[in-house]
Amino acid sequence: MRTVVIDGPGNIRVETRPDPALPGPDGVIVAVTAAGICGSDLHFYEGEYPLAESVALGHEAVGTVVEAGPQVSTVNVGDLVMVSSVAGCGACAGCATQDPVMCFSGLRIFGSGALGGAQADLLAVPAADFQVLKIPVGINTEQALLLTDNLATGWAAAQRADIPFGGTVAVFGLGAVGLCALRSAFMHGAATVFAVDKVDGRRQRAADWGATPVAPAAAEAILAATGGRGADSVIDAVATDASLTDALNAVRPGGTVSVVGVHDLKPFPLPALSCLMRSITLRMTTAPVQRTWPELIPLLQSGRLDVDGIFTTTLPLDEAAKGYATAGSRSGDDVKILLTP
Ligand SMILES: [Zn+2]
Ligand SMILES: [Zn+2]
Repeated sequence: MRTVVIDGPGNIRVETRPDPALPGPDGVIVAVTAAGICGSDLHFYEGEYPLAESVALGHEAVGTVVEAGPQVSTVNVGDLVMVSSVAGCGACAGCATQDPVMCFSGLRIFGSGALGGAQADLLAVPAADFQVLKIPVGINTEQALLLTDNLATGWAAAQRADIPFGGTVAVFGLGAVGLCALRSAFMHGAATVFAVDKVDGRRQRAADWGATPVAPAAAEAILAATGGRGADSVIDAVATDASLTDALNAVRPGGTVSVVGVHDLKPFPLPALSCLMRSITLRMTTAPVQRTWPELIPLLQSGRLDVDGIFTTTLPLDEAAKGYATAGSRSGDDVKILLTP
């Protein structure tokens, strides 16, 4: 089978490897029909995470079950499924909360070395009853792919931001996660959402969706627009030192900063005294994917939550290198890339 691998910064290629074996009696093999390129994949591409060996990339997959172990009960061979980007063991008390981040064995993410990459012809999925869901009626491929990671992440970011009804929210970073967070913030009762990104085209896209565009560093503008008070809630979908600092400066006293961006490996110098004196709540999580599905699927099916227009580009798997270059350009026109094996 073909799988997208990275050998070092900027070095993406499509490699032929042996087909994966069934990962135990509770696992399935999925023939991938669509895979996303995620902002977090770019941390490998841009050399922020050093690689000891090549890594098979990708953690957002939709496809057809082609082999299922005897213990799998929720899906059958031939089913079209989506695969959670974040995997738990599926059997512990942590996984019983449906949030794979709570797994007592530690979460595992596809395409980061621990599990196979989703940007491939085939993907081996352990504990499939926990990781995989048959795509419900009324959910299209792009929505299903966003449910495997970016929408679950943006939704969780809004849920954890303590957004008051009628409140003011700032979203930092207007890639796919930030745009999902923006829409989720409005669904959680925000009256005003400041949309922060250094790329003008991305701010414009957010403005088209009802947000107020602001260029970084945004704290000063957000303070000015809120009578010096600051935003009730800030969602940071970037998580660089600069964005975290800007987020902590833009939130009002007693407000919440909800972080879902993926930081690099270096420690962040938290201004702890300022956070203490202003009673700031700081929350951070990676995507609690499976927990969000019962909430998000009916909202998408009913049309109340709209995530159309987040995928901007579709390429065949063999053009993965072009897809990464496009995603890495972070232009206003190219937000999210879909690869089709
Ligand atoms: Zn991701
Ligand atoms: Zn577990």
